Amino acid sequence: MKVDDFMNLVEKKNPGEVEFHQAVKEIVSDIIPFVEVNPRYKDNKILERLIEPDRVIMFRVSWFDDKGQMQINRGYRVQYSNLIGPYKGGLRFSPVVNLGTVKFLAFEQIFKNALTTLPMGGGKGGSDFDPKGKSDAEVMRFCQSFMTELYRYIGQEMDVPAGDQGVGSREIGYMYGQYKRILRENAGVLTGKSLYAGGITLRPEATGYGLVYFFSEVLKDLKNSLEDKKVCISGSGNVALYAVEKFLEMGSKVLTVSDREGTLLFTHGIEKTELKELMHLKFEERGNLKDAKIGKFFHGKKPWGLVDSYDLGAPCATQNEVLLEDAKNIVKAGCMVFSEGANMPTDLEGTEFLVQNGVHFIPGKAANAGGVSVSGLEIVQNSMHLPWTREDVDNKLQSIMRSIYETCVKYGSDGKRVDFIKGANIGGFVRVAESMIAHGLI
Ligand code: GLU
Repeated sequence: MKVDDFMNLVEKKNPGEVEFHQAVKEIVSDIIPFVEVNPRYKDNKILERLIEPDRVIMFRVSWFDDKGQMQINRGYRVQYSNLIGPYKGGLRFSPVVNLGTVKFLAFEQIFKNALTTLPMGGGKGGSDFDPKGKSDAEVMRFCQSFMTELYRYIGQEMDVPAGDQGVGSREIGYMYGQYKRILRENAGVLTGKSLYAGGITLRPEATGYGLVYFFSEVLKDLKNSLEDKKVCISGSGNVALYAVEKFLEMGSKVLTVSDREGTLLFTHGIEKTELKELMHLKFEERGNLKDAKIGKFFHGKKPWGLVDSYDLGAPCATQNEVLLEDAKNIVKAGCMVFSEGANMPTDLEGTEFLVQNGVHFIPGKAANAGGVSVSGLEIVQNSMHLPWTREDVDNKLQSIMRSIYETCVKYGSDGKRVDFIKGANIGGFVRVAESMIAHGLI
């Protein structure tokens, strides 16, 4: 089987779902050659089965805005695979969410979750609702309406959603409240809950911290460290700002953060007090970087070409934010390791350019798995009815990130260099494929 032939089939069956096509292509480019030499996977038609989700749920979400006007959005939940454990993955609220977005995210999530070694299947959901600019009451009404439909399809042992872009502990709290109101059940059916609603400590930090732990493993192997490294980061949500926090703790210098409107540059590196201000602006005020009183703001600019020279890059904003022209800037700046905090932030051309030019490239499904890993621990905490300590969670997170790193090396190293994309794809695939075979043809 050839990658192009397989992709023709995927595109024909899923017209218009461009991000889904991209995510499948990125994976099958490594998997098809691997399947060709492993007849067990070929005979069991693993790839053909993998491109069909278990099911796709789409529903209407109606709610009243503050002016008393009716508003109609669309809700999604893609339950992609529950072979390794309950469907697990976030909910994304963003105006650009469509079926192709949710399917790509759910597909990626299967492999990411498989890499964590925890018993979690893959799923994803969300809505084209934009929480930006909405009042608290509007967000609450939307979340309640969303859950009034979603509750039928989820369950502690069935499907455990969490947050993603546009969905933080506030939104999770409102949805969880509605779930409890309908079912009178205290089941930990959502993760990313606040500590007051049965959540686990360190969940907001987990993706960003995990990303930095992964960087640290890569640098260790290159006989190097995070100390004094110059880092460019995109994004300014949970993932980006907690990555900044951990980078600063490790002695690195972070030069940029960004949002939809542009990039905020700190020529001498973000100071701890400045990070506090950024967190206040983004998490409390839900504001924009252009209104920050610190750093220098560049409208419509991405971080990658703004700084002449940096050692590490971490795209933590959204899918397809790093294109070929950005990749050229990244190489020109002498970036050594580029690791994805967001899901699929680099497009296929950009990725190819970085890899061909010797940048160590870590795909999101490996590097940003810290978030869902701590979600997995939240499930355990909820079942045990006993809270974990911060130290317990942090230690476990570090050991999970290390084991993902080792899996990438196991499947991606040729003895001289590690191909992290191949390592993550094949490492995740083997676990998924073996569980598929173990469950028979279903
Ligand atoms: N949305 C996050 C991700 O992309 C977290 C999912 C979860 O915690 O279930 O992995």
